[in-house]
Amino acid sequence: MPRKDPVQPRPDVRVSLDLVIPLWNEEDVLDLLFERLGSVFSIENLERARIHSIRYIFIDDGSTDGTARLISRRIDEGWPCLLVRFSRNFGHQNAVSAGLDFTRADLVTVLDADLQDPPEVILEMVARWREGYDVVYGQRRKRKDSLLRRAGYWIFYRMVAFLADIQIPLDSGDFGLMDRKVAQKIRELPEKLRFPRGLRAWVGFRQVGVDYDRPHRQGGNSKYTLSKLYRLATDGVISSSVRPLQAAQVFGVSYLVFTVLLALLLLIRPGQFEIPPWTLLGYLLIISGNMVQIFCIYILGAYVGRTYLEVKGRPSYVVMETVGKSDPLGSDS
Ligand code: UDP
Ligand code: MG
Repeated sequence: MPRKDPVQPRPDVRVSLDLVIPLWNEEDVLDLLFERLGSVFSIENLERARIHSIRYIFIDDGSTDGTARLISRRIDEGWPCLLVRFSRNFGHQNAVSAGLDFTRADLVTVLDADLQDPPEVILEMVARWREGYDVVYGQRRKRKDSLLRRAGYWIFYRMVAFLADIQIPLDSGDFGLMDRKVAQKIRELPEKLRFPRGLRAWVGFRQVGVDYDRPHRQGGNSKYTLSKLYRLATDGVISSSVRPLQAAQVFGVSYLVFTVLLALLLLIRPGQFEIPPWTLLGYLLIISGNMVQIFCIYILGAYVGRTYLEVKGRPSYVVMETVGKSDPLGSDS
C-alpha cells in the first residue's frame, strides 16, 4: 500500500543530480541525446531547479560500435560524464543496477539513451521530490510502438502487478528519480539477479508517479527482442514473488479434485457417454495430467534455475574501464 502520511517538503535545498543512462550500441542517437541533455539541463534550468551539480553516468553495456568513443570525446570536451564500460553485454537491468552502484549524488535518475524517456520530465520529477517524495517514477500515458509490442507491455505490467507480492506501479519502467537514501538501500540489497524497478518498489519510502507520453525511439533500433522481453517478464515476476509457485500448488490440487469428481461421475452415470467411460477417463487424465505437470515443472524450473545462478554469487556485471568524472561534486575529471 502506498504511504498516506503527510510528506515533508524540501523547497530550498540545493542538490546534486546523477543521471544513469544505460546504453548498448547507441551511436545513432548520441548526438541527439547530448543536444537534448544540454538544453534541458542548461545552467539557467539547473539554477531554477536548485541543482548545484549534475553528472551523466553512462553505462556502456558492451557496445561494439562507436558509443564509447563518442562519449569519451564528449568527456574531453568537458561534459560532466562518467563512462563505465562493461567487459561484455550484461543486459539492460544489470546496466541500470551498475549505474546505481556508481552514483553518489543527492538525487539519482535512470533514463534510456534513445530519448524515449524525455529528459524534460526529470525537472518535473525533481519538483515532486521537493514536495517530499523519495521516489518519483515515470508512468506511461501513451506508448508509441507497434500494436504487438504495446499489447506485450500491457500484459507484462499487469502480469507482474498481479503476481508480485509488492505493489509495482502499472506502466512504469526504470525511468524515475530517487533520493540518495533509496539508491543506497537498493545498493545494499544482496541479490545478484537484479530487477531494479522491482527493488525500487520493494524498498518502499514515499513514492509517486508522474505521467508522461512515451515517444518513438529517436534513432537506432530497439535492443529488446521478443525473447529478451520474455526473459525480462519472467525475471520480473520471479525476482519479486513466489506467487507463481503457490499458483502451481493451487493448480495441482484443483486438478486432483477435478479428476476425483470426474471419476465419481463416471462411476455413478457410466451409460451417459458414447466412448467407454474408462477409456474417456484415461484420455482425459493423460492429456490434462501432462499439461499440469509440464506447467508445474516449468514454474519450478524457473525458480530452480535462478536459485542456482544466485547461489553461485557471481557479480551482476564486470567493469572493463571507467573514464571521466568519478566524483559527483566535480573535483576530478
Ligand atoms: N540496453 C542496454 N543493454 C541491453 C539492452 C538495452 O544497455 O542489453 C539499453 C539501450 O541502449 C537503451 C535502454 O537500455 O538505452 C532501453 O533499451 P531499448 O530502447 O532497446 O528498449 P525498448 O525501449 O525498445 O524496450
Ligand atoms: Mg527504447
